Amino acid sequence: MSTLKAVRGTRDLLPPETALWNHIEATARRVFARYNFGEIRTPIFEDTQLFARGVGEETDIVSKEMYTWEDRARAQSEKAQSLTLRPENTAGVVRAYIEHKLGETGMLQKLYYIGPQFRRERPQKGRYRQFYQIGAEVIGPHSAGSESPLRDAEVLEMLATLLDELGITGWTLALNSVGSASDRPRYIAALREALKDKVAQMCGDCQRRAETNPLRVLDCKVPEDQPIIDTLPQIADFLDDASRAHFTAVCEALAACGVKYEINPRLVRGLDYYTRTTFEFTHDGLGAQNALLGGGRYDGLSEMLGGPKAPGIGFAMGEDRLVLTLAALSAREAELADYFIAPLGESLNAPALELARALRQAGLRIEVGDGSFRLKKSFETGNKLARKIILLGEDEQQSGILTVKDFASGEQSKIARAELVKPSKE
Ligand code: AMP
Repeated sequence: MSTLKAVRGTRDLLPPETALWNHIEATARRVFARYNFGEIRTPIFEDTQLFARGVGEETDIVSKEMYTWEDRARAQSEKAQSLTLRPENTAGVVRAYIEHKLGETGMLQKLYYIGPQFRRERPQKGRYRQFYQIGAEVIGPHSAGSESPLRDAEVLEMLATLLDELGITGWTLALNSVGSASDRPRYIAALREALKDKVAQMCGDCQRRAETNPLRVLDCKVPEDQPIIDTLPQIADFLDDASRAHFTAVCEALAACGVKYEINPRLVRGLDYYTRTTFEFTHDGLGAQNALLGGGRYDGLSEMLGGPKAPGIGFAMGEDRLVLTLAALSAREAELADYFIAPLGESLNAPALELARALRQAGLRIEVGDGSFRLKKSFETGNKLARKIILLGEDEQQSGILTVKDFASGEQSKIARAELVKPSKE
């Protein structure tokens, strides 16, 4: 008999790796609690209609990737119900918000979830058919402040904090506005018009999308299509005053908190329900599937699902990808030297080598630069090779007090050479 294996695109999570999963989830719960979020758990399968209406019939998720089946009818008179394994969790959360009349509290609902999602995508590194998302939603009546740009900025600031606390360095936040429900039709009309003459030269997917959902053309990754896409109109030029003011306010609040972002005018994301702010955090260490998380505002979603007006904003992070990123970062960390010594001028090369010898004898892992390097080059090289850099100039050499900078924290301090060369415990 042949042995049975986990289905393609699914996998077992085993110790010791599960400890990392638990650590990520515990950190997320701790950070979410500080922002006063509570946990919601929705069913893993839902009525197919929820995703068809909530995510959008024309999205890749609904049109090609859902695990859907006809449930058995309970009685002969009953029609079989079409059920679907959830491909994402926002639609389920908004359905629960409507079903339990959470809007009637008059308060903002701040809900987070952690759990598996299912999409029939082509499996590859960082892309699975059963994957795990950690996400959160802020949703409520307009009177509770749910439409305020402050909510968007607070969610983004929380995400920056969470990634920092997980020890994920080197992420990039891309931000855009896809406008309101009234901005989008104007933009889509302009996009259709611009695509008319160009679409014949584009890939098959774009030709289909140009008909069904032209916004999705902007997401195309086919290299030959990129120069054409760069000539298409940009949504930023179609925002009305209110959407533009909203976006500016989000950007200003982020700047005030010191959260760095880049505006990406092509970021429209894969789901239909987004309005105004959309965002994505990426990490280069992930390779082709470099999105750590994505999200945005969905001011009309509740109404699309038959509920009351309930603007909201949320995100979903790929937990599988957080695990991959942390594993890659810790592998890199293991390869780093303790110190990179930067001699500030060629006359300091010999003293640098002598210092390196003393530090190596003390059991430390040391890289030495060269006195011909400019300071910038020393920092760049040091950052690739070591956790900390020691600047060795004339003053330091004379006084025996070294300037040390920690690359991870950015902290700079003065340490006596005698302190550094003390033998380590190993
Ligand atoms: P989305 O729900 O498509 O906005 O995706 C949000 C995040 O979930 C992405 O940024 C990924 O980190 C993660 N994600 C989406 N699809 C997959 C998948 N098939 N496998 C692993 N992670 C995924």
